[in-house]
Amino acid sequence: MDIKYDENIIPHLFEGVYVVDQNRKIIFWNEGSERITGYSKEEVTNSYCHQNLLQHVDENGKQLCLSGCPLHKTLQDGIIRQAHVFLKHKDGYRIPVMVKTIPIYDQDNKIVAAIEVFTDERFQKQIYQENIELKDILRIDPLTQVANRNCFDFEMTKRLEAAKLFSNTFGILMIDIDRFKNVNDTYGHLVGDEILKIVAHTLTSNVKKTDLVSRWGGEEFIAIVDVLNIEDLEIIAERLRLLVQASSYQLDEDNMVNVTISIGGTLVTKNDTIKTAIKRADDNMYHAKQNGRNQSKIST
Ligand code: GH3
Ligand code: MG
Ligand code: MG
Repeated sequence: MDIKYDENIIPHLFEGVYVVDQNRKIIFWNEGSERITGYSKEEVTNSYCHQNLLQHVDENGKQLCLSGCPLHKTLQDGIIRQAHVFLKHKDGYRIPVMVKTIPIYDQDNKIVAAIEVFTDERFQKQIYQENIELKDILRIDPLTQVANRNCFDFEMTKRLEAAKLFSNTFGILMIDIDRFKNVNDTYGHLVGDEILKIVAHTLTSNVKKTDLVSRWGGEEFIAIVDVLNIEDLEIIAERLRLLVQASSYQLDEDNMVNVTISIGGTLVTKNDTIKTAIKRADDNMYHAKQNGRNQSKIST
């Protein structure tokens, strides 16, 4: 039998690709297969796949080469199969792979061989994990682990577009820790950092899942909250203020450190831009500070 392979592509594919003839003799073994399994072309070519070299097993540990080999079945019935299996590396350890088996026909439409393509799932898992980590870097503040300003901007833009489309409203709260410089000066920056984490945690733990607390910068946070009226926004702001006041950092056996926050809030409407909404919330926060701190001021 004479099967032509694209010598420029298949040998160098990232995936493992091998071909067996009708007797399940391995007649082709690409570089990807060498890399994934540890077996070289010379070691494998002309051996038989049912000699159980790679010892494919399924999730239950069942040996597939002895019965239920997808490649064998494809050789018999021509059906393309895909299966999640574990093959054995030359060094003895197990590798999760996704295998796909494809029949090869001759001119008379007779099955003469079958291809197995297998993908090393460890890399896919790694890439998936790296993607998640990258996304987190773009969205999460590393110190407090709440959303960062990027994330706020993205969410605020989305909500504002919806507000313009459906003429609805939502609230934002600008939250600033009172006299935080004193905390750093008195207890040190590291204690300051721990307190920032506690405040962030208290804030995120006490809003709805659909709300968003993000770190605006320094010792300031900004929250987007799903409310329809100013009274509800006031209730939420006061609740957060009281809960932060009631949180504390245990400095040592006898001493705890508490901080308070000042909050400025506003309802965002379809006539707003991000800038105008933040300016109102910021002005209200400034008033709360001027009025003596540890309070909230909310306006439309
Ligand atoms: P006010 O009540 O007027 O807000 O007083 P304040 O001291 O909180 O305000 P100010 O803006 O003067 O100081 C903010 C302080 O927050 C100064 C800075 O050292 C501290 N800070 C900002 N970011 C961090 C941080 O990541 N870690 C720590 N530990 N401190 C921070
Ligand atoms: Mg500040
Ligand atoms: Mg402050």
